[in-house]
Amino acid sequence: MEKLTKSYKRDTIEGQFDAIIIGSGLGGLTTGAFLAKEGKKVLILERHYVAGGFTHVFKRRGYEWDVGVHYIGDVHRPKTMINSLFNYICDTPIEWADMGEVYDKMIFGNEVYEYRKGAENFKNKMKEYFPDDADAIDKYVNLIFETQKNQRTFFMEKALPKSISWAVGSALRKKALSANRTTLEVLSEFISNKKLIAVLCGQFGDYGLAPGQSSFMMHAMLFKHYINGGFYPAGGSSVIFENIAPTILKRNGEIFTNAEVKEIIVKNNKAVGVKMLDDKEFFAPLIISSAGIVNTYKHFLSPEIIQKNNLEQLINKVTPSIGHVCLYVGLNASTEELKLQKANYWIFPDNYDHDKNIDDYLNDPEKEIPVVYVSFPSAKDPKWNERYPNKAAIDIITLADYNWYKKWDGTRWKKRGEEYEKEKEKLSQRLLEKLFQHEPQLRDKIDYYELSTPLTTKHFVNYQFGELYGLDNTPNRFNQKFLRPKTPIKNLYLTGQDVVSCGVGGALASGLLTASTILKKNLTNKIYS
Ligand SMILES: Cc1cc2nc3c(=O)[nH]c(=O)nc-3n(C[C@H](O)[C@H](O)[C@H](O)COP(=O)(O)OP(=O)(O)OC[C@H]3O[C@@H](n4cnc5c(N)ncnc54)[C@H](O)[C@@H]3O)c2cc1C
Repeated sequence: MEKLTKSYKRDTIEGQFDAIIIGSGLGGLTTGAFLAKEGKKVLILERHYVAGGFTHVFKRRGYEWDVGVHYIGDVHRPKTMINSLFNYICDTPIEWADMGEVYDKMIFGNEVYEYRKGAENFKNKMKEYFPDDADAIDKYVNLIFETQKNQRTFFMEKALPKSISWAVGSALRKKALSANRTTLEVLSEFISNKKLIAVLCGQFGDYGLAPGQSSFMMHAMLFKHYINGGFYPAGGSSVIFENIAPTILKRNGEIFTNAEVKEIIVKNNKAVGVKMLDDKEFFAPLIISSAGIVNTYKHFLSPEIIQKNNLEQLINKVTPSIGHVCLYVGLNASTEELKLQKANYWIFPDNYDHDKNIDDYLNDPEKEIPVVYVSFPSAKDPKWNERYPNKAAIDIITLADYNWYKKWDGTRWKKRGEEYEKEKEKLSQRLLEKLFQHEPQLRDKIDYYELSTPLTTKHFVNYQFGELYGLDNTPNRFNQKFLRPKTPIKNLYLTGQDVVSCGVGGALASGLLTASTILKKNLTNKIYS
């Protein structure tokens, strides 16, 4: 395969570019692909030695693991936004593998609840589990669709120029904001069965917040996203970058890894370039940051610019999302031999109270783990056996507070010391035990495991507190109008999950909004034509 990236350590950046994009995650790539297709010469600067942000994979000891893509919804349905966006920005289409009829399994003690593909199937299955709540289940699914529909204009508003937004912005946002209350608050209005609420909120780990804290806008977006099933990129999540990058490269763009931006250069409140870690400077008429709004507003700009544009006040209005740990497990036998399934497991305590469980755990990590998510990438990927015959991979994830690991921040990756390793080993064993409870045949099949912590996320993807999903998906977040592509600094734009929402869908949509904002035209028509 032709090389898609250059290394800033070895290669030189030459020539002039129309746009510099900081970060090669899906938000940056999508923005870059749109701009490239509109004739702009794009330079993407990625700090990590691997491109793709959370879509990258890592390999160790003959295994491969995805780090931030376990399943995606709606990619298979023609004319959905996600399907159309991927088709538009990919040079060659990505092959999506269907996870089958059941994409998520919610496990509360001995009770297992399957999330079935298709709204009708989902409702029917839920009604089997909760026959007395049939009306509430219908109402729930209807409300999800209605809420999600109302969000279209809410997000479109983010791409409007200030003057138009001033005139019509409130009207465009109003309907969606009626659902901007906590998920628990909204569901409690028509569901009295606490067990049902807990089961319907079982995917809360996909946006990182308990029902009592998350915005129902986020919940509806996420739930609707997967209701027609889960899909996995055949060949692993790195194919996402591999299929988008040529769109940029064929149009004279360049993507550099090992290229850490230290500062955005601003002259007369206008972004004109970037300064790298080695103090080299590169200039372009457009600077786009996909490295998160906190990095951009707090760390890439000088104190004078931050003060002049009141950026600190803006950032103080939002909170970072929680961190996570992920146990990457390698097994020395094939997926078939090990009888691994495609569906994700969500393993909860049996008290059906997510809010309390998370609170208890964050206050005391010795308490029961509130959610253990298990993904079986080697079972989902039809091309796995071609690449890794007689091997299998599993990811096991739970929430984690950066503060638990803060004392080791500043130490070097892989050299954080014995105490850190001991803590990780203890947690790894707890997570493995959760897996063995449900897949006992794996107990003596583990060949390798390695635990990432919020410090790992910080080290590799540069989220200051090892955030799992950028900003917290609270109602407060969706009230903030400043979370949009245009910044108070001329020619500086934001893209990525902080603009729309976390998730592959959110990052893709942010790319569309950012490119539309920059080019002052609605590019939505392009993706559907
Ligand atoms: C564990 C986990 C599981 C997930 N599972 C799913 C899933 O199954 N389905 C789903 O839809 N979503 C999932 N997500 C969410 C999804 O992966 C993200 O929301 C999305 O990929 C974010 O894209 P982004 O472009 O906004 O940011 P990122 O992917 O974080 O990209 C930002 C990039 O900026 C780079 N950068 C930072 N600072 C600098 C700098 N100074 N100079 C240059 N570059 C810099 C970073 O290295 C990074 O590459 C998951 C996330 C995690 C963490």
